[in-house]
Amino acid sequence: MPRNPSYDILFQPVRIGPVTAPNRFYQTPHATGFGWQRPQSGAALRGVKAEGGWGVVCTEYCSIHPSSDDSPYAFLTLWDDSDIAPLALTAEAIHKHGALAGIELWHGGAHASNRMTRVPGIAPDVQPALYHLPATARAMDLSDIRDFRSWQRAAAIRAKQAGFDIVYVYAGHDYLPFQFLSRRTNHRGDAYGGSLENRVRLLREMIEDTRDAVGDTCAVAVRLAVDELHGPDGITSEGEGREIIAMLAELPDLWDVNVAGALGNDSRSARFSPEGFQEANVAFVKSLTTKPVVSVGRFTSPDRMVSQIKRGIQDFIGAARPSIADPFLPQKIREGREDEIRECIGCNICRAANNEGVGLRCTQNPTMGEEWRRGWHPERIATYPRREKALVIGGGPAGLEAALTLGRRGLEVTLAEAGTALGGRLLHEATLPGLQTWMRVRDWRVHMIGKLSNLQIFPGSRMEAADIAEFGADHVVLATGSRWRRDAVGVYAIRPGAYPQALTPDDIFAGAQVTGPVVIYDDEHYFMAGALAERLAGQGHAVHYVTTAAVASSWTALTNEQDFLQARLIEAGVSIHPLKALKGQASDHITLSCVYTGCEEALPCGTLVLATGRLPELGLWTALAATGVQATRVGDCLAPSSIADAVHSAHRFARLLGEPDLPPRRERAPERPY
Ligand code: ADP
Ligand code: SF4
Repeated sequence: MPRNPSYDILFQPVRIGPVTAPNRFYQTPHATGFGWQRPQSGAALRGVKAEGGWGVVCTEYCSIHPSSDDSPYAFLTLWDDSDIAPLALTAEAIHKHGALAGIELWHGGAHASNRMTRVPGIAPDVQPALYHLPATARAMDLSDIRDFRSWQRAAAIRAKQAGFDIVYVYAGHDYLPFQFLSRRTNHRGDAYGGSLENRVRLLREMIEDTRDAVGDTCAVAVRLAVDELHGPDGITSEGEGREIIAMLAELPDLWDVNVAGALGNDSRSARFSPEGFQEANVAFVKSLTTKPVVSVGRFTSPDRMVSQIKRGIQDFIGAARPSIADPFLPQKIREGREDEIRECIGCNICRAANNEGVGLRCTQNPTMGEEWRRGWHPERIATYPRREKALVIGGGPAGLEAALTLGRRGLEVTLAEAGTALGGRLLHEATLPGLQTWMRVRDWRVHMIGKLSNLQIFPGSRMEAADIAEFGADHVVLATGSRWRRDAVGVYAIRPGAYPQALTPDDIFAGAQVTGPVVIYDDEHYFMAGALAERLAGQGHAVHYVTTAAVASSWTALTNEQDFLQARLIEAGVSIHPLKALKGQASDHITLSCVYTGCEEALPCGTLVLATGRLPELGLWTALAATGVQATRVGDCLAPSSIADAVHSAHRFARLLGEPDLPPRRERAPERPY
């Protein structure tokens, strides 16, 4: 298909100081979980983004000094010259495809844990060190400020030596330069505190220093939180955020602006913010500067991208998550294949990877993070050597991914789904409050399957073992999913209990009636219990949320959703009972016990809903074993988990069919001399 001419504007080059971006697609800095420990993994990941058409590809945060050490999370370093060569791998991988390479120089101030380096933290003022309790960050005196400026300058020079084209001054996300900007964290009485002009002084000096050091060939970008969402106490886009931009308007070569304070504000999940949600806060920036502006907003629609440019909101289309879900998004638009864009669903599983200190992963894109360690490519896959027949049972995320990937490899694929609609668990989960975008997992796969002539789908086809044996496929893949447990076994309670009157989420989705006070019991800790509580409260039920953890949906702290979620439950009138385990159920109440003391209490309960563990659907697997037909299980019917894990499991099987299943490569030692 020829490119839609209305998208031409997205492919215009844009000048950024001394360098020129080949188009408007700008992959803003985002964490990968690889950091300085895994330079080849990081380089391969960024290289694929550049190959997919992103005109600017940036690294994640790169520490300028050991007093800014985010261990155990993965971050880059430019502490000394030994950091140059590993980072050059990334710059080279990006340049290979004609994109500009950006690097986000970073100092966390009171936010840096320094667990590895054990260097005391620094901050504008004496401040309890966040994430490193019970430590305290010490106040920087004027010689510390001079040192700090010299670190930024030295790191910028090393970044240039490593080959980067865009060097960041990073004043966002509550990190050190931002701590100087905000009245909330800067209480100094010297030339760096007090008036806004004084609080801006360090940022101004950093921009000037960086330009002085590398500005002849490198663009100097400033990443600034123009609203920290703390109201009038802090930086706001109507107040000091606007004033800062006005004061420094022409000083940097590019403004990368966002709403921040905490990282979670900037990368809110779809459950809590729609596409383009930062626009109201950042739109003013372009009116105050002639320099190019970039911002993010989970943009996946080319029409919305064009609108951002035409309405003068920004000059680039900034993206982190859309570039993770589809590294080839720009190329697909360029080639008139925008229908093939694998849209980010806004689930923030990618955020969880970094928060857990592991390599990046993505629900939509199972190859993300696997570029170097497994050699997986999002758009290329080896053809299977023979035209064999594959039968996939189940049309949920795993079955669809298995079928699509086997189809891309050239097998003759048949997918049988018992239900009349495809989607499996998504058919229910995407009806929960705020989770509608999750249906993109199904929709993209069904759409791509429709383009393959070697793949047939049969909905309304429940398969029994005899049907499968009769079908006579060379490869049988079971993707029959899972069901919620009725025995309350979960993370805390590992011994099965008897709760014959209790419901599970499956019952609620099947339309079971709920009466009286509803108790949702969470011993799983991801989204289900919280989302069900929200839905039932919204339907007017009195809802009690009981969890063995300290907070509701505790695992969602890793997807940066937990605090938004808990606030929403409280606002919906849900009464939250933390650190309580289920002990028993009577006709009108349940018994709970404190997870620490065992002290028991009764809670009135008309309907108990157990969101604890899930069991794989093994009926077909067991029956098939009796027939002697070989099969492979993928997704939840192998091991119930997240949708991301189900998709990855299916992709891994299909990609490795006929190949040795080797362990992923690990970065023990450089593969070439640094
Ligand atoms: P996953 O996340 O692993 O893809 P899901 O629970 O989302 O798992 O999807 C499993 C799908 O398998 C459901 O749509 C279900 O209807 C289908 N299924 C289960 N058993 C059979 C069967 N015997 N024949 C055909 N489809 C089946
Ligand atoms: Fe988007 Fe989810 Fe993938 Fe992150 S993990 S890029 S939020 S689809």
